Amino acid sequence: MEETEGIVLRSFDVRETSKLAVFYTRDFGVLKGLAKGARKKQKYFGSSLELFSHDYISFYKSRNSEVHLIGKCEQKNFYIGIRENILKSSFATYWMEIVQELIQDQDEKIFDFLLACLSYLEKEPNLPSLLLPFFELNLLRLAGYGPVLTNCVSCKKEPVSYKFSPLLGGIICPDCHNKDTRSIDILPNTIALMKILIKTQIETLARISVVPKLLGQVKGVIHYYLFHSIGKRPKSLQFVEEIMKAKILTEASYLTAP
Ligand SMILES: [Zn+2]
Repeated sequence: MEETEGIVLRSFDVRETSKLAVFYTRDFGVLKGLAKGARKKQKYFGSSLELFSHDYISFYKSRNSEVHLIGKCEQKNFYIGIRENILKSSFATYWMEIVQELIQDQDEKIFDFLLACLSYLEKEPNLPSLLLPFFELNLLRLAGYGPVLTNCVSCKKEPVSYKFSPLLGGIICPDCHNKDTRSIDILPNTIALMKILIKTQIETLARISVVPKLLGQVKGVIHYYLFHSIGKRPKSLQFVEEIMKAKILTEASYLTAP
């Protein structure tokens, strides 16, 4: 029997009574586990197989299958504060999806990053506007896709104007534009903000103020790079954007109310 800590990235029903869960674990990276009878034996698994639950897992390692048998799953944190807030739960759901798309291997730094982000999301009453770009950019970095932002990723020169190349993974100078025809314009302010997001700890994120135009550009560049890196637009992002839009409208209507 092996033991580890994990975060539920996905779980779904299998057969009549069981569940299959995909975890990101501290010691084994992505781990798929079958919880036999989980839908019947509530007292054994409780809500531990719900999305983004943080659990202690005991499992029997399978020798010939990538799906292991879960013996026990004890919940360490359910993140009730996230689940009770539709915006926060849309963020956490989206995060679990992109982790699944970008990460396979074991890396304790990634595990701790996810825990720190979930705890922050649960506790913080006012979410900073840079929270999503911060998560996306740092997850890309931790997954090995950290963008080159100090000089042209191709010829190493320090040019005066740049484009961003998702293919090469960084900024490129005008001489190298033809190396990635899908590169997009990027402003020096955006590059500077991306560098700050990489150096910042989540706890101090709220101290960075940003004007809407710059926020729009940084979001655009990071999304373009993220979608390129995972080969598609994540499904749950649509929901996040709808909730954010609805929230902005609600706040605006409070402000304009007589
Ligand atoms: Zn160049």
